Amino acid sequence: MAPPSPTGARDSPGSSASEKQRSSKKRGYSDSTGLNGEKRHVVRRSSISKPGRDQRDEPVFKHKRRKRRQTGEDNDSAIAEAATTSVSASRQESPVIDFDGLSRPSVGTRQRLEESAEEKAARLERMKGAVKTLLECVGEDPEREGLLATPERYAKAMMTFTQGYEQNVFDIVNGAIFQEGHSEMVVVKNIDIFSLCEHHLVPFTGKVHIGYIPNNAVIGISKLPRIADMFSRRLQIQERLTKDIANAIFDVLRPQGVAVVIESSHLCMVMRGVQKTNSTTITSCMLGCFERREKTRNEFLSLINVNRQ
Ligand SMILES: [Zn+2]
Repeated sequence: MAPPSPTGARDSPGSSASEKQRSSKKRGYSDSTGLNGEKRHVVRRSSISKPGRDQRDEPVFKHKRRKRRQTGEDNDSAIAEAATTSVSASRQESPVIDFDGLSRPSVGTRQRLEESAEEKAARLERMKGAVKTLLECVGEDPEREGLLATPERYAKAMMTFTQGYEQNVFDIVNGAIFQEGHSEMVVVKNIDIFSLCEHHLVPFTGKVHIGYIPNNAVIGISKLPRIADMFSRRLQIQERLTKDIANAIFDVLRPQGVAVVIESSHLCMVMRGVQKTNSTTITSCMLGCFERREKTRNEFLSLINVNRQ
């Protein structure tokens, strides 16, 4: 089944560019000012790789919108143009909480977020059809009793597994940033995450450990697991998930530094392929003072005790 065309989505009623802009203004999102009122101008890089971000994290919509106004309907070239722009641009603003806070700008995400009840039902029907096809293709009989309701169950489960696409950092943080004059390390560790590997659509699960050193402002402690949850309930690779969480916290809080370590087990490794059942994948992203100072980094690593086995 063919995916919905991007053009169709953009031209659908109620989702015009100007309307979106207005609604984003109404919700108080701003490009230049962080949640705690500070200007966002920090240039940083993650310690994982250079360039620091997946190019799909760049806010493609903005480029596309501008392009469309100038040249009309030439969508494909606009997308190509936006892609090259974002690759060549050096890493400045993190787009993690940019673009209405959705942070993974894609036509499908926007469509899913804004759809009506009828559109929602139609989406579910399409998903059910796809699952039925899958069942047939593996040699099963989708009409036998045990499988009759499986397409619907799976479609609904899939929407839950990916509900992070309907959330954004602004709504999650919801103003829970407090000027406490605190500047000691804060660590929340062993946060369970359940995500889907975007290469195989099978789960990877594990623990995320988050640390930050405040710059006066602290964030409500329960917000850290919720941010981790939001990004993990999207199609991910562990490396990007780690960066997403770190960048989001850095952007909303402007702390001295953020450290995120994820340990997880990938079913695509465990159940198929190399079948290494006991392997754990560890990724880390150190920003700010965690990246600059070895002592700070080591303090965090010993607090989360990542080398305990
Ligand atoms: Zn995989």
